[in-house]
Amino acid sequence: MARAVETINIQCTSCGHAGSLRQADLAVAVEDEVVTLANINQVIPKLVCKSCRQKLFRIEDGAARCLVDPEHGRRCEGCDCPIILPRLEVAPDSRLCQFCVDAGTEPDVESEWPRPPADMSRCPRCLERHAEKSATFVRENSKNGSLFIGCSNFPRCNWTAPFSPPNT
Ligand SMILES: [Zn+2]
Ligand SMILES: [Zn+2]
Ligand SMILES: [Zn+2]
Repeated sequence: MARAVETINIQCTSCGHAGSLRQADLAVAVEDEVVTLANINQVIPKLVCKSCRQKLFRIEDGAARCLVDPEHGRRCEGCDCPIILPRLEVAPDSRLCQFCVDAGTEPDVESEWPRPPADMSRCPRCLERHAEKSATFVRENSKNGSLFIGCSNFPRCNWTAPFSPPNT
């Protein structure tokens, strides 16, 4: 089982403002679940620099191990949150964060299905509710074979929109 994260140290890459956050501060952002290395990336997009209001941070755990560096690493294709660096070290080809893997998100969504258009890459309903995951994907309606855009928060969110393939 993933251990709870006691403290993280964050530094704003825009203005250099630095601080630390404890488990109690972090848990607020994930609806009072315990924050571990498996879900800490869900917290990161909610952090805003108190000094300059930017959202890019270099983040280390209490043992000074770098978790997130905006200049390295990549974002999860399921939730668009940064994948923490220790995960990328173990599995450099990861396209999904641990949180999305645990949630059962398909790892090869992209190869099978078209991408939603850029202006619909986040679920509008989840964005409004500030849900932690708001990425969208394209799937086929099993009843009539039409394509639709769905929300990665499904089944918690059942937002959908029709998808029309671009004419190529
Ligand atoms: Zn700042
Ligand atoms: Zn993810
Ligand atoms: Zn949604």
